[in-house]
Amino acid sequence: MADKADKLPENVPGKYYVDDQCIDCDVCRDTSPANFTRDDENGYSYVWKQPETAEEKELCEEALMACPVEAIGDDGAKAEEDVEELELLTF
Ligand code: SF4
Repeated sequence: MADKADKLPENVPGKYYVDDQCIDCDVCRDTSPANFTRDDENGYSYVWKQPETAEEKELCEEALMACPVEAIGDDGAKAEEDVEELELLTF
């Protein structure tokens, strides 16, 4: 299961993300090219756009299920909210 604590820094904020377990196999980029792309320098995938349509969301879910090392998570949005809440409490 993907761990949001290990989320790659290139992921855009939001629900879906790739963590550092990615083995650069190309499945997610092939399944959902509108949302996943490759960091050529480091050799892994990340979410460059969160899904905006029902079809994109379905493809992201498909990619999540198909990832051979379970490096894709779908609980990133909650993490972002938690961070914002924490920052508000700090000030
Ligand atoms: S399917 Fe999983 S292991 Fe393969 S490139 Fe995407 S995130 Fe990485």
